[in-house]
Amino acid sequence: MSNHIKLFIPGPVEVRESILQAQTAPMIGHRGKAFETLYNRIHEKLCRVFFTNQRVLLSTSSGTGLWEGAARNCVSDDPTRGVLATVCGAFSARWADVFEMNGKAVTRLTVEQGCAIKPERVRQAILEHPAPFDAIAIVHNETSTGVMNPLAEIVAVVKELSPDTLILVDAVSSLGGVKIDFDGLGLDVVLTSSQKCFGLPPGLAFAAVSDRALERAKTIKNRGYYFDFIELEKFRLKNHTPATPAISLMFALDKQLDDMLAEGLDARFARHARMAAMTHEWVRSRGFGLFAEPGYESLTVTCASNTRNIDVSALNKYLATQGLHISDGYGSLKGTTFRIAHMADLTDADLSELFAAIDRFLAG
Ligand SMILES: *Cc1c(COP(=O)(O)O)cnc(C)c1O
Repeated sequence: MSNHIKLFIPGPVEVRESILQAQTAPMIGHRGKAFETLYNRIHEKLCRVFFTNQRVLLSTSSGTGLWEGAARNCVSDDPTRGVLATVCGAFSARWADVFEMNGKAVTRLTVEQGCAIKPERVRQAILEHPAPFDAIAIVHNETSTGVMNPLAEIVAVVKELSPDTLILVDAVSSLGGVKIDFDGLGLDVVLTSSQKCFGLPPGLAFAAVSDRALERAKTIKNRGYYFDFIELEKFRLKNHTPATPAISLMFALDKQLDDMLAEGLDARFARHARMAAMTHEWVRSRGFGLFAEPGYESLTVTCASNTRNIDVSALNKYLATQGLHISDGYGSLKGTTFRIAHMADLTDADLSELFAAIDRFLAG
């Protein structure tokens, strides 16, 4: 493929040829034995990637669909309780909007872009709220700012002060690249999309859901239809999905999970950490800054401060001639930052190729 542009953007990511090919297998019916075997196999492997013995629900949607699912299934309509939405950038702000648009009471804990959500701020927000929150929403990896939030420390505060508050985590741009120990941390919903660290095309989303989140869902009347966790779980127990799923993507997922487990999850996490270190080092050594506050830099996507004031769209035009593509800053950060994703199946060699190309651009 001579016109192939290798993607270093935080979704959709570069997808390996063998994974693309897996999607072309002949179609099967979703109410037959072959599908049940496929789904069962996928579920077992997904549980390993999510570090859970509970369940992982599969949705034919992007991650945004499961944002809505988490909002509808885990937060009651009691206006005195609601959700504590932690906001540190564009994605976490949008998830807060999703709760609100589903009629839930939202308390926002907002920090400046580039900063992380600190456990002390969460402590304060919980103590200031007259009733316990039904849930807290945390975006683990804020893709717009390149900040990775200290999940374990935040969780510890919630468990200490408000043990009945469900912990909902968006790990869309980190799960599969960074270890998130669902059962170990006692999380309630962790959701992600196929087109980020999983290295698949877009179109599927996954959510580990705890027993206690399902118990909560049962007490909530209007859970909606497509993302009703109770219904998804009822069908999952029979290795079915309520509606027709994206079966071709499931073929690709089945193969990709095999490859992820063959690489070894620890090796996969180590590769992501190494690629992050390489990228941080390149960014600093070329006179750019890291937008994330020190100590909270993402391990899957680097947001560089454009301190040299380069023309990012000109850079991407040049990179296209080299078969490469990076991301401009997101929303209000366009132009003043640029982002390099180092997630999914990219390698050190891919990054070296990218850095060499950017260096040629910078040299003029
Ligand atoms: C990409 C992204 C989303 C949106 O996911 P979709 O699959 O596009 O719906 C949500 N949260 C984060 C942190 C993301 O990076």
